[in-house]
Amino acid sequence: MTIKTLINGFPRIGENRELKKALENYWAHKVSFDEVEAAARVLRKKYWRLQKDAGIDFISSNDFSFYDNMLDTMAMLNAVPERFAGIADKNERYFAMARGNGKAAAMEMTKWFNTNYHFIVPELSDDMVFQLDPAKVTSEYREARDIGVRTKINIIGPLTFLALSKTKDGGDSFKYLHKITPVYKRLLEEIAKLDEFVYVQFDEPAFVKNPSDAMLPLIQATYRELASASGRIKIIVTSYFEHSTEATKLLCDTPIWGVGLDFLYGKRNFEGLECAASKYIITGVVDGRNIWRNDLCASLEMLERINKAIPKEQIIVSTSCSLLHSPYSLKNEPESAIKKYLAFACEKVEEVSLLARLFSSDSLSETEKSLIEESKGNLLSDPNSGLIKNNRVEDRLAKLSRTSRKGTYAERSVLQKERLNLPVLPTTTIGSFPQTPALRKARSDYRKGVISSAGYEIEIKKYIDHCVAFQEEVGLDVLVHGEPERNDMVEYFGELLEGFHFTKNGWVQSYGSRCVKPPVIFGDVSRPEPMTVKWISYAQSKTKKPMKGMLTGPVTILNWSFVRNDITRAEVARQIALALSDEVADLQKAGVTIIQVDEAAFREGYPLRKENIGEYEQWALEAFRLAVSAADMPTQIHTHMCYSDFNGIIKTIEAMDADALTIETARSGNKLLKVFKETAYQNEIGPGVYDIHSPRAPSVAEFREQIMARLETLDKKKMWVNPDCGLKTRNWEEVKPALRNMVEATATIRKEILRVSDMS
Ligand code: GLN
Ligand code: ZN
Repeated sequence: MTIKTLINGFPRIGENRELKKALENYWAHKVSFDEVEAAARVLRKKYWRLQKDAGIDFISSNDFSFYDNMLDTMAMLNAVPERFAGIADKNERYFAMARGNGKAAAMEMTKWFNTNYHFIVPELSDDMVFQLDPAKVTSEYREARDIGVRTKINIIGPLTFLALSKTKDGGDSFKYLHKITPVYKRLLEEIAKLDEFVYVQFDEPAFVKNPSDAMLPLIQATYRELASASGRIKIIVTSYFEHSTEATKLLCDTPIWGVGLDFLYGKRNFEGLECAASKYIITGVVDGRNIWRNDLCASLEMLERINKAIPKEQIIVSTSCSLLHSPYSLKNEPESAIKKYLAFACEKVEEVSLLARLFSSDSLSETEKSLIEESKGNLLSDPNSGLIKNNRVEDRLAKLSRTSRKGTYAERSVLQKERLNLPVLPTTTIGSFPQTPALRKARSDYRKGVISSAGYEIEIKKYIDHCVAFQEEVGLDVLVHGEPERNDMVEYFGELLEGFHFTKNGWVQSYGSRCVKPPVIFGDVSRPEPMTVKWISYAQSKTKKPMKGMLTGPVTILNWSFVRNDITRAEVARQIALALSDEVADLQKAGVTIIQVDEAAFREGYPLRKENIGEYEQWALEAFRLAVSAADMPTQIHTHMCYSDFNGIIKTIEAMDADALTIETARSGNKLLKVFKETAYQNEIGPGVYDIHSPRAPSVAEFREQIMARLETLDKKKMWVNPDCGLKTRNWEEVKPALRNMVEATATIRKEILRVSDMS
């Protein structure tokens, strides 16, 4: 018997980020859209062939996108918000929705479940006329068929589409289901015309998030309805990143053909599989979102386990999710001790194929047996790697004498006030200042060996001099060094810590044409020497005002990396935290009085299932507290988070117990601050008053309005004034007037506050 194989979806940005380059040239009006399309066709063809050559049976089409698949779905359904409806050109409209166009603001973008991929959030309204445009779906199918590949068509399922949508009137988005289901049905009718029979994979990852009472009753009805569209269509409903047992039970009782399940991140998918005995089970056993090679033995065991409930011929070997979340291929990586333990998208395709072969065969050959044997090993068991183990880390963690700071906020704040002597409403920034072309050039010259480290340091110092002088001049109260030495807030620390590996080409799509290259944590994490003390001390030597130490927190470093999977994430977070606590101690020793530990990615690590949240919160919180544990009571600890919706997580934020928390509120509106008032949050807060995503510098009057609005909710004695986030993506011409106005507005309000308190 030959077991079949399926790939959920393949990366589309290109081995050398060809799509990114084509898109950006088009946006810069350097090339026409025809050229972007030509580039896209080349990429699609290459990836279909590659999967076909690897022997994959179910290869996706419509996994491709020029920007985002949710946006494609909006285009397909004509779910176009009114402000874009007047744009006649289809492509122009599409990109305007994603990126704004001067007149109309871009649509909101947010994270795709717990990944670092961002999708465009649909905005639905009652007056929308949903209408089918099947062109993209059908043309990609034909394109693949022309080169001999009959694809399965990927489409975002109607329930996930709605679950992720917002509505103009704030009502429940499922009220539009009866309007979009007929459009989906029409789509299936169009697809049915393409071939004798066609497989359609509906992605329904919304099923893994504790499906709501509003959604559960809709699952069966929707898929019964869709399955009735045409006898030529075989429907697969796929979920990933967690289990979807509630939905699976319901789907079993509909005429769909197959169910795609993630057995790696959704262990509970093994439960109750019996009900699916009449369905094909697309078995996600090759990790689509981490970069470690497959343990063939463990995967085969999983397949055997599934085979207890499902006949073997109905098991299809697959990836746990789309390979969109994996880098392209290892073949472009230089040799390294860890390389043989990695698998990127191309290698994962091979793994799926190999697993199916192994699972098919009744008696394994000697070569096959040794392949399986070999894949069991990890870095830890490889005596040649010598890379992973650091007993000192384990020892120290076992014997920690201090796991959090001393004193309560009330006790610490007295000491800090005395020492820092800051005015009411102290002003500060979040850390980074504009990354100038000169700085980028210096960094790249230094990396290429064109300039020496001494030459590079001169550039960094020049930047710090200028940055500090500017902050002095405008009169900010707590200064920063501007982070000129950092390209990225995780990469910078990863490069200085042991246990991290950096890939050369491990790009993963983050949003639109943007890609990130997450570091790989492969070993025990430790800090060979101080990482930031030199720069902060230098900056401090240039001013009498307090200079903030600036670190990236343990949870953020973890959440933005590919993490080893031979120990728990909690354990890795603890190791990073220990290394950071050494840095905090060294900064403090060097005389730094305020240290900010950024946790920009704290929230995105939250598990998808409610029942797992408590555990995450506990270890994430412990990691943060350990990282700052070395700070004595008079040392003020700040943290920063790039969002302001703390509903549901406020207790955890409170327990992090940072003396001050800076957050994003300029963009998202003041009403989100209410939660701090309702929970009687005790520590200091710096609600953002400057939207750093906009090039515009707000006027003094606008800043005043923003600050006054915050003061309606927050206690003036505990409020800071600062931008939403770091300023590295802006330029100096934008930042200078903005910060000047922010400080000036604060000064006027401060005077009013003092006058009132004089009188009372
Ligand atoms: N300190 C960092 C900066 O200012 C924080 C960035 C972030 O929160 N994403 O760039
Ligand atoms: Zn931020």
